[in-house]
Amino acid sequence: MDFFTQDIQFFPGVGPKRAELLKKELNIRTAEDLLRHYPYKYVDRSRFYMISEISENMPFIQLKGKILRFEKVGEGRSQRLIAIFTDGRQSIELVWFKGLKFVTERYKTNIEYVVFGKPTLFNGKYNIVHPDIEILSQLPTVEQMGLQPFYNTSEKMKTHFLNSKAIQKIIYSLLPELQKGIPETLPAYVLNRYGLLHLTDALINIHFPKNSHLLNRARQRLKFEELFYIQLDIVKQTAWRNQRFKGFVFKHVGNYFNTFYRDYLPFELTNAQKKVIREIRADVASGKQMNRLLQGDVGSGKTLVALFAMLMAVDNGFQACMMAPTEILAAQHFESLKELLGNIGLRIALLTGSTRPKERAEIHEKLLNGELNILLGTHALIEETVQFKNLGLVVIDEQHRFGVAQRARLWSKNVQPPHILVMTATPIPRTLAMTIYGDLTVSVIDELPPGRKPIQTFHFYDNKRQALYKFMVKQIELGRQIYVVYPLIQESETMDLKNLEEGYEHLSEIFPQYKISMVHGKMKSAEKEAEMQKFVTGKTQIMVATTVIEVGVNVPNASVMIIENAERFGLAQLHQLRGRVGRGADQSYCILLTGYKLSNLTRKRIETMVNTNDGFQIAETDLQLRGPGDLDGTQQSGLPFELKIANLAQDGKMLEIARKTAIDIIEDDPQLQKNENIILSEQLKKMKTSSLNWSVIS
Ligand code: ADP
Ligand code: MG
Repeated sequence: MDFFTQDIQFFPGVGPKRAELLKKELNIRTAEDLLRHYPYKYVDRSRFYMISEISENMPFIQLKGKILRFEKVGEGRSQRLIAIFTDGRQSIELVWFKGLKFVTERYKTNIEYVVFGKPTLFNGKYNIVHPDIEILSQLPTVEQMGLQPFYNTSEKMKTHFLNSKAIQKIIYSLLPELQKGIPETLPAYVLNRYGLLHLTDALINIHFPKNSHLLNRARQRLKFEELFYIQLDIVKQTAWRNQRFKGFVFKHVGNYFNTFYRDYLPFELTNAQKKVIREIRADVASGKQMNRLLQGDVGSGKTLVALFAMLMAVDNGFQACMMAPTEILAAQHFESLKELLGNIGLRIALLTGSTRPKERAEIHEKLLNGELNILLGTHALIEETVQFKNLGLVVIDEQHRFGVAQRARLWSKNVQPPHILVMTATPIPRTLAMTIYGDLTVSVIDELPPGRKPIQTFHFYDNKRQALYKFMVKQIELGRQIYVVYPLIQESETMDLKNLEEGYEHLSEIFPQYKISMVHGKMKSAEKEAEMQKFVTGKTQIMVATTVIEVGVNVPNASVMIIENAERFGLAQLHQLRGRVGRGADQSYCILLTGYKLSNLTRKRIETMVNTNDGFQIAETDLQLRGPGDLDGTQQSGLPFELKIANLAQDGKMLEIARKTAIDIIEDDPQLQKNENIILSEQLKKMKTSSLNWSVIS
């Protein structure tokens, strides 16, 4: 039987109980799973230090020698155990504050030990607190040991003595089997092209690195393999889909498009908008189904681009729809498109959860008989009952707000899938976009409409409140409006609501002369709508809200965004919120209020906000700070796979190479049928059993 697929239960040091635990806690069942459980860090055990060499700020080091004697010092809770340890020339104190009994029973004088730990300076002398101690003769030699791997375990595993060291031992026992060689998972020509280690060598060196050079090569190989197969999967699926589904062809740029452009458009398009419209135009005329992701910072004018795309559809006899994540936003799209389109003669409608049954029935009918050209709405659009006559284009606004399943439903609206344009203002770093949306072509609007002044962002501690209130008055006297946003954390919604309501009361007391709106998630949508409307029409000067206004809302006269407890928001969210202002010609401001106690991470987030308005830079920083799994916009859908070794924040270059390699291979051999590529289709098949098919979804 293939060594890789063997059940770990029968390996030395495992047995049924530990096997069960490994399966439950880490999903490790087979030899391969175990060998693919890569260490998360390494500590250099490749040499022994002399006590005389110890200096300040050393990392973990190891010493070789004997314990001369034990001493108990102090009384009661401050009691500690000291062992005088000598390397034959000098001595150093080893110190324990806990487990004294265990230590004195376990370790003896006059045995050659290896002591491992981090030296610290105490009262002018070095000591090592709670060192690791092992018997020298039981350790592999230094040459075999090299860099010592550390493995992730769980609390539960630790209580069953399945700690990092135990895992290391188990994996060590597989070494002889591993050294016999295991089947390679990458074709020889790929290994050769990039000078990659063979899988066997890579696995040996990832677990038992002889030196850091080999460790690096092992990591390179395993990272490449991981990223490459994800890309190969995406690229192959996309090719298959392009081949299988023909896209609707929007042959010409027609009457509505031209008339709107010539006679209705109230301003000049930015060059970036023009560029993206051309890209979309090329897609929908190509005969392939479009799957395009449009990224553009908040306020960059994505809606208008979407409108042009929808006009292309209508001009070619198709219907189009645009889905937004909230009712407020959908309604706003509806209003602004109605206004933009004026009397051009298009029939558009709004469909949301709160559309009345009678109106709903009417919309359904007009969609089916083709009377309606454009439908706007929330996810109400994708309910089964909504059927189109000939849906040619679907636009998804703020797509990161939608779950995967919701997006997938759009596919079933036609026998032939419509063109799809997804838009997001949460810029996704390139590397991440390539991994999650590798099958989408990406357009970027990297330019704001002219005349916008960059938003100025400030960080205030709570003590600046009085100054802030004065500033608010000044702005309102200038005719501006202000948002005050409170955090909302799901676990404690009631508490947050209390926060919000108290904030509202407080502001009402401070500003009796102004009118204040309040919007939060617990309100009925009609109520929300009404409050929002008051703010939009300028009847209220201040809008107190939770993050329900985070996405898409457009009130150009609002020029100040105040964020309470800014430390409780993620970077992407802060940036989104800030994007609610700066939409008019006035200078706008964003004020981040925080308490005094800030973690380093929070401080970095706030600094980033103060220093830059560039959404892409913010997204990159976010990725660096948080790691891809947590990134706003991916939490909801989640990364469709788990990365074991590659790191999207660091391995962007390699991801690009992996993608390029995958594209070349699929162009040359779309079905992966060539002899040298059989290995690839087999690996893909193996992956398939565990992960879902992504490219059909977005
Ligand atoms: P977002 O990309 O965040 O969705 P919107 O589409 O809501 O941005 O556009 C923000 C504002 O900018 C809207 O008021 C819109 O009318 C305006 N706008 C869009 N394009 C232009 C342009 N080329 N020139 C001037 N204003 C524009
Ligand atoms: Mg928008």
